[in-house]
Amino acid sequence: MTNNISAINPLPMESASRLQLDPLTILIVDDSVTERRLLAAVLGRFGHNIIEAGSGEEALACIKDRNDNIDLILMDVNMPELDGYATSNKIRTLESDIGIEWQPIIFLSGRNTPNDIAMGIESGGDDFIAKPVNSITLQAKIHAMSRISKMRKRLIEIQHQLEKQAHFDELTGIANRRHFLSMLDKEIARSQRHSLPLSLAFFDVDKFKQVNDTYGHKVGDDVLKGIAQAVTESLRREDSFGRLGGEEFCIFLPGQQLEKAIKIIERYRILIEKINFQSDSGDFNVTASFGISELNKQDSVNSLLEKADQLLYRAKKNGRNRIEF
Ligand code: GH3
Ligand code: MG
Ligand code: MG
Repeated sequence: MTNNISAINPLPMESASRLQLDPLTILIVDDSVTERRLLAAVLGRFGHNIIEAGSGEEALACIKDRNDNIDLILMDVNMPELDGYATSNKIRTLESDIGIEWQPIIFLSGRNTPNDIAMGIESGGDDFIAKPVNSITLQAKIHAMSRISKMRKRLIEIQHQLEKQAHFDELTGIANRRHFLSMLDKEIARSQRHSLPLSLAFFDVDKFKQVNDTYGHKVGDDVLKGIAQAVTESLRREDSFGRLGGEEFCIFLPGQQLEKAIKIIERYRILIEKINFQSDSGDFNVTASFGISELNKQDSVNSLLEKADQLLYRAKKNGRNRIEF
């Protein structure tokens, strides 16, 4: 079997510039140090960032480690222990297990019968190059894969953006209603399973319509952002905070009984009334009213929220800028 990668052709300079592309992070998987180094040297000349793995196992560990940072994998087929096909198979499984997107794999092999190629694609590979590797062919195929890699990066970015949009409120950047309630649901289940306390505070900005009417909707938005920011900055790590809609916010405090929760929430009430908001017609302050409920064994998200909402209503009736529990 010819495995002679030293037959890589030197690339004429004009071809090199013709095939110029953005530097990629390329993982070379080959049990032969010499072949790895030769390939790395050729690719290094084009500015690619090279990582080397001497076995399938090493490659898998590296992929796990780099978590989405590899643009392309060049994979030798004949290796002791895990061969290239088995490694590819495991890479595809690993990707879906740890939730990373498809990383292109090109096989480099001395054996390239139609059957070998079919097996390579079947095992999760994307392309196949015969050894000895011709460097122009290699560069061209890397070029093709770099398009896929770019597309892949865009997809990952879009996915992150979509996740963010789905979970966080656009105006304030804090958890939106759906995300907050889903976190609360999990925390309620956990608390009830382990018989742990949990408290929930529901609050609403007082006379917020007046803020909008007096200073304008834009300033109203700034007030909501300012409150979200101030509370977020002093939020305890174990607690969660979200915007349920309009000028209504919620905090849940895992592990906290009512008495302790009241003390903690009282700090937020004071924090909010002390924020200085600015407008063209001068500085002003706002206040908020709070209802705090404590979880019992029968509670669901809805019943816990309902209790807090009733108490919030009472706080409004009893004069606002206060806590009811
Ligand atoms: P209360 O003290 O009883 O809570 O009175 P309130 O005026 O705060 O309550 P009301 O529910 O009558 O008014 C809430 C206002 O909040 C009405 C709505 O236009 C405004 N609002 C809701 N969402 C937003 C927003 O995203 N930005 C701005 N600027 N205003 C909002
Ligand atoms: Mg209000
Ligand atoms: Mg309201």
